Amino acid sequence: MRRPHALLLPYPAQGHIIPLLELAQSMHINHGFTVTFINTHFNHARLFSTFPPSQSTATNPSFNFVSIPDGMQPGDDHNDIAKLCNALKTFMPLSLEQLITKMNNQEHDKPTCFIADQGMGWALDVAKKTGLRSAVFAASSATTFTSVWNIPNLIEQGIINERDGSAKRPGQVFRLSPGTPPMNVDNLSWNCFLNSESNKIIFQYVYANNKAMKNVEYVIFNSFYEAEKEIFDYLNSSNMLHIGPLLSKQTSPVPFARCFWAEDKTCKAWLDKQRDDSVIYVAFGSLAMLDQIQFEELALGLELTGRPFLWVVRPDITGKISICLPEGFSDRIGDRGKVVEWSPQQEVLPHPALACFMSHCGWNSTIEGLSNGVPFLCWPYFADQHQNQTYVCDVWKTGLKVMHDENGLITKEEIRDKVEQLLGDGEIKKRALALKEIAIKSVEKGGSSFENFNTFATAFKHNV
Ligand code: UDP
Repeated sequence: MRRPHALLLPYPAQGHIIPLLELAQSMHINHGFTVTFINTHFNHARLFSTFPPSQSTATNPSFNFVSIPDGMQPGDDHNDIAKLCNALKTFMPLSLEQLITKMNNQEHDKPTCFIADQGMGWALDVAKKTGLRSAVFAASSATTFTSVWNIPNLIEQGIINERDGSAKRPGQVFRLSPGTPPMNVDNLSWNCFLNSESNKIIFQYVYANNKAMKNVEYVIFNSFYEAEKEIFDYLNSSNMLHIGPLLSKQTSPVPFARCFWAEDKTCKAWLDKQRDDSVIYVAFGSLAMLDQIQFEELALGLELTGRPFLWVVRPDITGKISICLPEGFSDRIGDRGKVVEWSPQQEVLPHPALACFMSHCGWNSTIEGLSNGVPFLCWPYFADQHQNQTYVCDVWKTGLKVMHDENGLITKEEIRDKVEQLLGDGEIKKRALALKEIAIKSVEKGGSSFENFNTFATAFKHNV
């Protein structure tokens, strides 16, 4: 029997690469798969620029990184998601087919299966053409996946327009099925990009991916049953398996090239100096942006809380060349606040000094915070983040949302007041800790995610 060899293809964004890498590592370490991880040239260069290859599993012959072009032109903005989606679907299938064909012709270690990110559903047609079994990995919540999966129903029920996925009746609240939590049509992930033209292009991209996914062998989710019980009950399928939360502490015994920015390793020493349950951790993931006015207001809000904070300020967070904090801010804050470009978030969240997580509610941040029992202050930006916020605040009740004022600003007073309200609410913390226990149990031996992972990995090892 040949050793199983999985090819994994993430959608080319930080929030997809990280969980796919965790999946890949678990398949490699716990289930004996050889892995080839396929990045775009652009992202491959970014990942390895922050990490010396000599230190990473790039030197492990059974865990390989390769890259192919994403179809973007020199000078194109890789944060322009609509443009990126158009490039991916137009140019990447051929490069992927050429890569797999070349690998299929190898003497040894030919690929045996293919795992496509949900955001790269088109690649399933390439897998089929090149003779590989395939699965889809949902890097978003099962709820977001299901809303995409249900696009034909949403069109048929007159909830969205087939042309562009926009709401037929803006603000309409509906359920994906009776028994699943209510959802606002305006919060559907493809309706939450920056303008209606982007929404339309992205809707068409996800709709085409959806069609390509229809005959896939397995869909696996970075989620666990109790987090989205009603959705899993609704999907109720033996080939749709929750296997999460996938966290690096379970999968990564070795350092790994996984981030576009270098992780600031001084965070831990700073956190070690803070009192238990005292620190506000502020991070908005890899894509969310704030305009300069909102950015400064957030800084002033953190100052106004009077509490210690660890704040991730990505170099591109305001879209400007350089970051401009309010005048005198750093002097006034001194050692009470720590500002870093990128944190080792999965090491930060379990730290006992953490009191709460001010987050944009990307799915990874949501599931990571949840797995560490951390209460949330939700500040969603786009895509699926509004839906995830609904889960945190209305379904799990483990966080609060910050509200915009009549001018669209989240004011410093709102930030201070919500932090106080959140940290003063013992019930929220209690619920967060209870959910953490359930999340951890699900990936321990005998837990439902653990068992599902075995089912999936065993199935994909057969017929090799
Ligand atoms: N992350 C990190 N350090 C940071 C901020 C984020 O390591 O300072 C990681 C975080 O742990 C998560 C990912 O980046 O795994 C962000 O994914 P998410 O889905 O939360 O947001 P996105 O970047 O996709 O908007």
